[in-house]
Amino acid sequence: MASNNDTYADDRRRMVEQQLVRRGITSPRVLKAMESIPRELFMDPAFRSEAYADHAAPIACGQTISQPYIVALMTEALDLTGDERVLEVGTGSGYQAAILSRLARQVVSIERHQELSRQAQHALNLLGCDNVTLVVGDGSKGYRPNAPYDRIIITAAADHLPVPLVEQLAEGGRVVAPLGSEDQQVLQVMEKHGDQLEQQFLTPCRFVPLIEEGADG
Ligand code: SAM
Repeated sequence: MASNNDTYADDRRRMVEQQLVRRGITSPRVLKAMESIPRELFMDPAFRSEAYADHAAPIACGQTISQPYIVALMTEALDLTGDERVLEVGTGSGYQAAILSRLARQVVSIERHQELSRQAQHALNLLGCDNVTLVVGDGSKGYRPNAPYDRIIITAAADHLPVPLVEQLAEGGRVVAPLGSEDQQVLQVMEKHGDQLEQQFLTPCRFVPLIEEGADG
């Protein structure tokens, strides 16, 4: 992606080195994807100059684009080899979906705000991410037409893993999600073995809430 008119290429390289490598992200595939996707394309224009700052930023509809480190950490935890079908719940800006598109075979991403999905589609089109399908709806119900999924990533906070997502996860598949209360969650990795979910805790985090259909918001 870096070219003569890629004004953010140096910022992106610095972000990878200082925010990701120094904090322990080691996967060469993840680092390469993070260095190749222009995060500025997914920012609200008012915050574009902060595209490579070390924090989450506001996007339309009162939502956020996640901190680059959290995107990299969740992506690394998915352990993608390139052949997976991935479901993302919470398209938001589309940035995480763009990173996933470089690392998996197929990505389905669900967002409840139509406007966000429309803007994300525009940015993904600019990058030629043609293995991403965006869906508007309640992601806590998953998306059965493309199930089962080898990996599921939830980028909004819930106090439990919605049952339809567990059902739509393939045997041996993996979920990465922030689970906990509205104020504080823990990023967790869960692997499905029969009717068991093996759990591993990554780090405390704070995400906007997962709004299930019928709830306010
Ligand atoms: N992955 C996003 C990115 O790369 O910009 C960041 C996602 S933002 C932290 C969380 C998103 O989840 C918001 O856009 C919000 O509207 C969405 N969301 C919340 N509840 C949802 C639900 N039930 N179904 C689908 N999307 C939901």
